[in-house]
Amino acid sequence: MEVKTSLLDNMIGVGDMVLLEPLNENSFIENLRKRFDHNEIYTYIGSVVISMNPYRSLPIFTPEKVEEYRNRNFYELSPHIYALADEAYRSLRDQDKDQCILITGESGAGKTEASKLVMSYVAAVCGKGQEVNKVKEQLLQSNPVLEAFGNAKTVRNDNSSRFGKYMDIEFDFKGDPLGGVISNYLLEKSRVCKQPRGERNFHIFYQLLSGASNDTLTKLKLDRDFSKYNYLSLDSATVNGLDDAASFRTVWNAMQIVGFMEDEVQSVLELVAAVLKLGNIEFKPESRVNGFDESRVKDKNDLKEMCELLGIEQSVLERAFSYRTVEAKMEKVSTTLNVAQAQAKTRHKVMGVLDIYGFEIFEDNSFEQFIINYCNEKLQQIFIELTLREEQEEYIREGIEWTNIEYFNNAIICDLIENNQNGILAMLDEECLRPGTVTDDTFLDKLNTICAEHQHFESRLSKNSKFLTDHSLPHSCFRIQHYAGKVLYRVEGFVDKNNDLLYRDLSQAMYKATHSLMKQLFPEGNPAKVNLKRPPTAGFQFKASVGGLMRNLQTKNPNYIRCIKPNDKKAAHIFTESLVCHQVRYLGLMENVRVRRAGYAFRQSYESSLERYKMLCKQTWPHWRGAARDGVEVLLTDCSVPAEEFAYGRSKIFIRNPRTLFTLEERRRA
Ligand code: ATP
Ligand code: MG
Repeated sequence: MEVKTSLLDNMIGVGDMVLLEPLNENSFIENLRKRFDHNEIYTYIGSVVISMNPYRSLPIFTPEKVEEYRNRNFYELSPHIYALADEAYRSLRDQDKDQCILITGESGAGKTEASKLVMSYVAAVCGKGQEVNKVKEQLLQSNPVLEAFGNAKTVRNDNSSRFGKYMDIEFDFKGDPLGGVISNYLLEKSRVCKQPRGERNFHIFYQLLSGASNDTLTKLKLDRDFSKYNYLSLDSATVNGLDDAASFRTVWNAMQIVGFMEDEVQSVLELVAAVLKLGNIEFKPESRVNGFDESRVKDKNDLKEMCELLGIEQSVLERAFSYRTVEAKMEKVSTTLNVAQAQAKTRHKVMGVLDIYGFEIFEDNSFEQFIINYCNEKLQQIFIELTLREEQEEYIREGIEWTNIEYFNNAIICDLIENNQNGILAMLDEECLRPGTVTDDTFLDKLNTICAEHQHFESRLSKNSKFLTDHSLPHSCFRIQHYAGKVLYRVEGFVDKNNDLLYRDLSQAMYKATHSLMKQLFPEGNPAKVNLKRPPTAGFQFKASVGGLMRNLQTKNPNYIRCIKPNDKKAAHIFTESLVCHQVRYLGLMENVRVRRAGYAFRQSYESSLERYKMLCKQTWPHWRGAARDGVEVLLTDCSVPAEEFAYGRSKIFIRNPRTLFTLEERRRA
């Protein structure tokens, strides 16, 4: 916490929650509301940025604003996401510290918009030149491509990301961007086949049908009419404010800029068309002589066209649809997006941007919420670890005695979920692999016996257990006390979703396609590489990729953006207190302020504090001739501030309580 002057002057509400007095949930939310009402959508908790979604365009993202925040100290100007982006970029460039920007919040809170603001800020302030500009364009244009294929209109957000995204942007020693690597987490694949009421499929389907030329559509054997396709729900096919046709042109351009060759774009669109055809294929039962029913394709035209698009022999695909030999495939989790001029030996500086689903507490929580909330527990872990580490390092640097900070450590919840022997994920895997009749209920029984005594786990226990206690819990459910609140999970579907089976016959049929992109997507269908080992479960894969992500983040200096959704109407100017309160709780923001205030809430260089408060003391006003540190000491003694309120660091004065600071401020104003 450096020079805080701007946080105290002319501020609407309090710019940094660390300075809030009194500090409680009400005052916290009141402060957010006051600032939101005055279009101040950003507020700090120390170096953490809280971002409220304004749901309208504010004139605060202009090139002039970029200039204003460029090369300025974090606390010099009023809170802004640009201040965070600037700080991160400058420590990357000048101090050679790899950075990561962690953006969390619920659906519609503004995470993706925030990630784009950070990226565009960095692109605006880093090097120039033809090559560099090309890389910047590629980085920025990766967004429309990813959004077309990974975003959809949902009840909560018209442009909801249905995957978690982590992008490492690589820079050379001068701080010029070289390229990026993108990893995706847990894409909501099921949306392709089925969308909840009032929601759409992924944008690309509508964009293609609305925006492609007649010629392209003919080549793809497609009809412009959405209603011809089972996969495109009808009740909400067009969305207010979304121009699918214009977006198609944007995506098309973006794909070229990112580096797709024209025939590659065409290949991708052929796959999109094939998926639409696939959705139209219907099956009918056909009785066979042996008395069993077998499924057969009803109307063969869509099947025929799909096979033509992919270069698959119709009989091969038809057979694959009707038979299954048990085997499965692994989901591809990461994509590399062009690392330009990848010089193997030189170390690159890296800025990682994580835009990932926040904590989810719905009425009905299933495997997806369980996995998402597990990921958030891990992020909270790393937040605690890194914040405390950062604090501790600063204390050591400044030669101040480290006092232990009391905080809730959620490691115990992470362990409940991920422990290799008896964690919930391990038990789920064990159930999935166990021969015999496996159901969601046998899985729950297992949890009951093993987790029964865990302080963060509750369920209605099975008959033979001695812990038959909580009858308020519905059947087939368990509850976890997450750091952000209690969540009730329904076990239905856990086993199936964790298995995530794709039958081998299908992957082998796809591998037989002459369409080369299709073939590449199903390497496990290669008969020469038949792997009889069971592929890893969805839970196992996710745990492994989250583990990798955490190890990666741990090597970097973290910057946090916590996004909050002000209302659930997607509307400007409305601040729904209960909704905000809920988010403040599960983002752990109060805990966050507490940790920041636990030791010394506040610190400032001797020079700046002398400059600001010298008028309060005759000996320091108008000029102090000695060392700044001595001046501050004289000043504070003169103001009779209790000694336990201060600690003298090497370059900074540390102030324990914000109230002390306010007293000084009041005297200044008097
Ligand atoms: P999800 O988890 O569903 O992907 P998200 O947190 O990524 O949600 P965004 O898509 O970033 O949410 O934001 C939702 C919408 O809110 C945007 O499409 C935009 O209309 C509006 N919005 C978000 N941030 C801003 C902003 N800074 N200025 C103006 N509008 C914004
Ligand atoms: Mg998003």
